[in-house]
Amino acid sequence: MRLIVQKYGGTSVGSVERIKEVAKKIVASKKDGLDIVVVVSAMGGETDKLVEMAYEISPEPGKREMDMLLSSGERVSCSLLAMAIQNIGYKAASFTGRQVGILTDSAHTKARIKKIEAHKINRAFKEGLIVIVAGFQGIDEKENVTTLGRGGSDTSAVALASALNADLCEIYSDVEGVFTTDPNVEPEARKLNKVSYEEMMEMASSGAKILQIRAVQFAKKYNVPVYVKSSFKKGDGTLVTKEDSDMEEIEVSGITYDKDEAKVSIIGVPDKPGIASKIFNVVADANIVIDMIIQNISHEGLTDISFTVPKNDAKKSLELAKVVGKEIAAKDVKIDKNMSKISIIGAGMRSHSGIAAKMFRVLAKENINILMISTSEIKISCVIKNKYTELAVRVLHKAFGLGKENKRK
Ligand code: ADP
Ligand code: ASP
Ligand code: MG
Repeated sequence: MRLIVQKYGGTSVGSVERIKEVAKKIVASKKDGLDIVVVVSAMGGETDKLVEMAYEISPEPGKREMDMLLSSGERVSCSLLAMAIQNIGYKAASFTGRQVGILTDSAHTKARIKKIEAHKINRAFKEGLIVIVAGFQGIDEKENVTTLGRGGSDTSAVALASALNADLCEIYSDVEGVFTTDPNVEPEARKLNKVSYEEMMEMASSGAKILQIRAVQFAKKYNVPVYVKSSFKKGDGTLVTKEDSDMEEIEVSGITYDKDEAKVSIIGVPDKPGIASKIFNVVADANIVIDMIIQNISHEGLTDISFTVPKNDAKKSLELAKVVGKEIAAKDVKIDKNMSKISIIGAGMRSHSGIAAKMFRVLAKENINILMISTSEIKISCVIKNKYTELAVRVLHKAFGLGKENKRK
């Protein structure tokens, strides 16, 4: 092995004591000749505190300033970690996203990485340094600081691993790997030894915050082997990798939930060509990512269109929907923020039938009403009322046999 990238999340570097522990862990993996890049998140809870302060100052803080503010959390943790490593007697230096050449687009607070100038880190390796990088940040063309969306340090790590051609990328968190569902909600959840890039992408996009979706997309595109591990306990973790035939044997491998959904409904819309395009173009132009869409059967030339967006974007989406609603002479525009999305995911869905029917049956038995449904080749998602989230996770986990007694390699 020649080069590894390790990423430590917020809980892993949540206190000075934890930072000292992480420093020891990094030094222990620094074998002769091995280059290490460490990506860190802000100390646990710090990014939330910064967000809160911004909203205390302004109801709608400017996004450029938001990025300047949010990127500061990772500066603190990366410099403290470099000091802790130096204190053990090893050479280390901390760098911001800009200093290691992470170039992004200009979509403030959810920027995408366009390029990494790898030579900047290679220069630091020549000096024998352990390179500590502030995660979650980069700069755009005009050298404005950008951030990569919540959980974005995962993406910094995988993107650096691919740009530097690393042998592997290790993501250290507060859980022992990727589980069949959030182990903090379902104690019966079981750690998966392996999960495919496709399954992990579906899990990440439907609420499993253990990895940010962009990180998994990078890993898949550039074939980066990613290990998710605990920074607290020893263990092999979960390998996120290419799909293999074992993975198809099991119908469902994971269950996710996302409480971050809001549903916007435009009621009494004229049912004619071009209307949906008008609505969704306006939302897309505002850089808002729509998740699910449903259009009812029309009655007397009128129909209803509903879509879900992240709660963060709910206010803006409602404003935009109201403007478009007026233009297209819709009867009403409504929003419901008490929504959750429950999804079941598995590569085995390609070769097993009746899985959707089983999911709906299990939810119906608990009297949980399904408000919207969407499917992909390896995922089925249902929007339900928020208050049923945990119950739905538990009953589906049991019904699909994901408990500790069942084994998947
Ligand atoms: P970090 O700060 O290390 O980036 P995160 O809080 O972003 O950590 O992600 C880890 C959390 O993801 C866990 O504490 C767990 O509650 C949650 N999680 C949700 N779904 C899963 C899953 N399927 N497997 C493991 N963890 C999950
Ligand atoms: N600190 C950022 C967040 O809390 C990025 C990260 O932790 O990955 O979202
Ligand atoms: Mg995270």
